[in-house]
Amino acid sequence: MIEERPLAAKAPQHAALTEREVQESRRKETILYLDGVSVSFDGFRAINNLSFLLGKGEMRAIIGPNGAGKTTMMDIVTGKTRPDEGEVFFNGTVDLTKHDEPAIATMGIGRKFQKPTVFEGHTVEDNLALALAGSRSILAAIFHRRDAEEEARIAEILDTIRLTHLRDASAANLSHGQKQWLEIGMLLAQDPKVLLVDEPVAGMTDAETEETARLLRDIARDHSVVVVEHDMGFVRDLGVKVTCLHEGSVLSEGSIDNVSSDPKVVEVYLGR
Ligand code: ADP
Ligand code: MG
Repeated sequence: MIEERPLAAKAPQHAALTEREVQESRRKETILYLDGVSVSFDGFRAINNLSFLLGKGEMRAIIGPNGAGKTTMMDIVTGKTRPDEGEVFFNGTVDLTKHDEPAIATMGIGRKFQKPTVFEGHTVEDNLALALAGSRSILAAIFHRRDAEEEARIAEILDTIRLTHLRDASAANLSHGQKQWLEIGMLLAQDPKVLLVDEPVAGMTDAETEETARLLRDIARDHSVVVVEHDMGFVRDLGVKVTCLHEGSVLSEGSIDNVSSDPKVVEVYLGR
C-alpha cells in the first residue's frame, strides 16, 4: 500500500516553491532588479537593504535628500561599486554583480553623469558621430564615410535632443542645457536599453528644464529610464512613478502626489 503523506506536510513546501516562482517571474518582467542590496563605506551603510524594481520600458524618477544613496545606487547598477549583499539583475536574468563596468556598459546600461563631458572642440554632429563609432579613433570616426544608416541615426538623435539646427555648431558654443542634451544624445548613439540620468536639470534655465522633461518622455517611449532629480516641478512634468530614497532605502514610492504628500517624505526631504 502506498503511504500517503499528510497534506499539511506537503503544503508548505509547495507554497514556498510557488513563492519563489512568483518572485522569479516578477524579476523576469524587470529591466533592473535590486533586492536586499547593501553597501558600506568604512562602516557607513550608504545603501541599506534596498529593493528597487524597474519594469521593461518604464521611466522612474528618484528623489531624496543629499546622501540618500541615489548616486551610489547608480554606481551599483553600472558596476562601479560592488554591493556587499543583495541581488542586482539586468533584464531579469543577467546577474550584474558578476560583471565589470565596461561589460555592463556594453550590455546596454548607459549612464549620464551630472557634469556634461562633450568634446568641446568638435561640432555637435561630430560628437554624435564619435559616440556612434564607439571604439573607432577620433579621426577615423570623423573622416570615415558615413553610410545612409548612420546618417539617419544621427539625424534622428539630433531631432530627439533638439539640436538639429545646431548640428554644425561647435559643442563649445552650446548652452549648459544644450550640452546636457548633446551628452544624452551621445548616450543614445550607443543604443542603450536603460539610461541612468543623474540630476540632468541642475543649472538649466526654466525653459531648458521644461524641454528636458519632454525630451526624456520622448526617449522613454523606447527606452527604460531612471532619472535622479531634486527639481520637483520637473519630476512632476515627467509624469512617472516616483521613488524617494532616504538613508539607503526606499522611504516612499508611488505617484508624485502620494509621495510628495507622504509625511515621511515631507519630514526628511520636502519640508526642509
Ligand atoms: P546622493 O546621490 O543621494 O546624494 P550618494 O549616493 O552620493 O548620495 O552618497 C550616499 C552616501 O554614501 C553619502 O554619505 C556619501 O558620502 C557616501 N559615499 C558615496 N560614495 C562613496 C565612496 N566611494 N566612498 C565613501 N563614501 C561614499
Ligand atoms: Mg548624487
